[in-house]
Amino acid sequence: MKDYMIRGTGLEGKVRAFAVCTTAITDELSRRHQATPTVTAALGRTAAAGLMMGAMLKGEEKLTIQVQGGGPIGQIIVDTNAYGEVRGYVSNPTVDLPLNAHGKLDVAGAVGTDGALYIIKDLGLKEPYRGSTPIISGELAEDFTYYFSVSEQTPSAVALGVLVDVDYSVKAAGGFIIQLMPGLTDEELTAIEQRLPQLPSMTTMLEQGLTLEEILTEVLPSFRVLETKDVIFKCKCSRERVEESLISIGKQELQLLLDEDQKAEVQCHFCNEIYAFTGEEIQSIIDKL
Ligand SMILES: [Zn+2]
Repeated sequence: MKDYMIRGTGLEGKVRAFAVCTTAITDELSRRHQATPTVTAALGRTAAAGLMMGAMLKGEEKLTIQVQGGGPIGQIIVDTNAYGEVRGYVSNPTVDLPLNAHGKLDVAGAVGTDGALYIIKDLGLKEPYRGSTPIISGELAEDFTYYFSVSEQTPSAVALGVLVDVDYSVKAAGGFIIQLMPGLTDEELTAIEQRLPQLPSMTTMLEQGLTLEEILTEVLPSFRVLETKDVIFKCKCSRERVEESLISIGKQELQLLLDEDQKAEVQCHFCNEIYAFTGEEIQSIIDKL
């Protein structure tokens, strides 16, 4: 199934719901960073959460997620926006751990459980919005659930999943977020609470070939789609931006770089793209300063 995202409501608008399929995006993140399966799962889960949180934004608003759990993965950074674009990286993509006690990739072991989840929203105001909550599980879905309930006062259920194949390719990835709005009756709440634990995992449902609409209907029988959109991996870096960063280091430093190396290579953290500049190109940048 192609990567895409849906947004909609259930129970006459008393629940809002998001679901995303990110199999190709997660595979691209994994390949670009040469990530181990555990890291692919951690980064992929964060990217899926990020895309759905991006869908809660408007226009040019942007979102950055930082997961700093104190584990060997270091930090996870994911950038998204309202256009369904995502990019991300982790400090240590080679972290590999044995499977956990349930025979699953040990995401909590890699992420750690001693730190915080930071959400930074650029809403076009002078100062960005910053929210954070402690990491309570390290498996990430529970950590986002906790963030929504504590930091945004929105009771939510978050499911995130990444299934990595034996050849390290990504077999299925995605997630959903259900948010409870005011006005829900106790019976309606109980029905949702009872249904959620009975559902197969997100990746199982994706692997079974269920569409996102079908998955959200499993969760919320009254689900109605309001919007469907594409989601893609996209990095903001470009040769022009890298050139600007070279200009910003100043004439003297650039001359030093030219004298020592006769070339420059700049690698983007987010996508691992390498931008190479020859001695002549650096000289022409210096000449313009
Ligand atoms: Zn990049």
